[in-house]
Amino acid sequence: MAGPLRVAVVGSGPSGIYTAQALVERQGPPQAAVDVLDRLPCPYGLVRYGVAPDHGKIKSLQDTLRRVLEHPRVRFVGNVPVGRDGERGSVGTGELLGLYHAVVYCVGAPADRRLGIPGEDLPGSFSATDFVSWYSAHPDAAALRFALGVRSAVVIGVGNVAVDVARFLAHGADELRGTDVPQAALEALGAGTVSEVHVVGRRGPSRAKFTTKELRELDTLPDAEVVVRRDELALDPAYGDPGALPAVARRNAAVLDGWARRAPLGRARRVRLRFFLRPVAVLGGPEGAVRAVRFERTAPDGRGGVVGTGRHEEIPAELVLRSVGYRGVPLPGLPFDHRAGTVPHAAGRVLRDGAPSPGEYVAGWIKRGPTGVIGTNRPCAKETVRSLLADAGALLGREVSAADPLEALRELLRPSGREPVGWHGWLGIEAAEEELGRRLYRDRVKIPDWEGLLAAARRAG
Ligand code: NAP
Repeated sequence: MAGPLRVAVVGSGPSGIYTAQALVERQGPPQAAVDVLDRLPCPYGLVRYGVAPDHGKIKSLQDTLRRVLEHPRVRFVGNVPVGRDGERGSVGTGELLGLYHAVVYCVGAPADRRLGIPGEDLPGSFSATDFVSWYSAHPDAAALRFALGVRSAVVIGVGNVAVDVARFLAHGADELRGTDVPQAALEALGAGTVSEVHVVGRRGPSRAKFTTKELRELDTLPDAEVVVRRDELALDPAYGDPGALPAVARRNAAVLDGWARRAPLGRARRVRLRFFLRPVAVLGGPEGAVRAVRFERTAPDGRGGVVGTGRHEEIPAELVLRSVGYRGVPLPGLPFDHRAGTVPHAAGRVLRDGAPSPGEYVAGWIKRGPTGVIGTNRPCAKETVRSLLADAGALLGREVSAADPLEALRELLRPSGREPVGWHGWLGIEAAEEELGRRLYRDRVKIPDWEGLLAAARRAG
């Protein structure tokens, strides 16, 4: 089989990089040459912009991902958004298909799910993903401002993102200085006065989505303690008996029970884990900003869900973070299942009207929805690559432009003044972040805005 098989992977987060890895590490013809495109000038997706800055061990995964991007048959091509065909400043899905034998979309699930309750968008109410983006220095979040000089915050949802944002609200500045959080976020979080963080689940603890390691970590901050109410720890009767609980729910139950039984530690901040409370409305004060969240108490319905009891509770809060999951968004020109928030596919092959679309594939959250840990993306990417390689004969027969796709991409973007950022540009950003850290007497500090990132990339050439 002749080659090389030219593949564009759209998105340089874990699913995109695992896809590139599976493509270039396989033995035998045809060899694949992979361009990993990203709309940002920086690679690594949620590993850079989602994994909490104080999770150094997970962050070190970047070194593994980096080795893939340094492979001789892989090129990182940042600052290339995918938009509509013919649109200025972006490349369309049809245009990509004209440049590559195959395109694998690994664009994740960048939006937040909505609660659909009154007051959701009042000043002071944010999606937790915005808060995560802000302390992770995502350039689209540079202008966000969070009211941290307040007493009480409510986090709605009990997944791992909820645990991350609660921990960040309860952290002191000293604990964050050794991370790469941008300087403005470090100062704002350090000056923060939030002393009550309520993390609220609509179902019971046995249905919580957080994992035990992350849950335990909440109680390791020097100035904060976790508070749990014993009367909210009932196991879900749908499990029949406690032995039927999934292992993670059993481990979580043991941790929560221990916290519920202990005497108060008297620390300055409290993270209050609450259960069986369904959000009904975010309430505004006289100035219009958030003052409380109104919840309805729920009870198990015997089938794993809950029913309302008609009893209500208001939790005062001047800051609300809605942490109810991510949501995929459609890409122009690609089919989309709006209910699932994913692209319809069969083993990674994009389906148009039920039939595989030649040359188009998906992997990661846009394929299977926003669940699982980083490692879940590896088998997911491998499945897609198996499908792609099984199609290789037909893919190599597709008409694609003879030019180097990277040159063609530059040409497409030139009229808008947008310049792709290659690997050297990214190394320039890394060097600039090291330098910024030195000036601030910290380790590496992230550059939080587009201008700074692109200027650092340009300087590196
Ligand atoms: P998630 O795990 O899906 O949790 C979402 C939470 O929001 C659930 O408690 C859910 O409750 C609740 N929820 C959804 N709709 C709601 C509504 N209308 N009203 C009230 N509550 C509602 O989502 P996530 O925390 O954003 O995490 C996304 C993925 O990233 C997960 O796979 C997670 O494990 C992963 N992640 C991992 C780490 C880590 O490993 N350290 C860190 C961050 C994220 P119900 O269950 O009742 O629907």
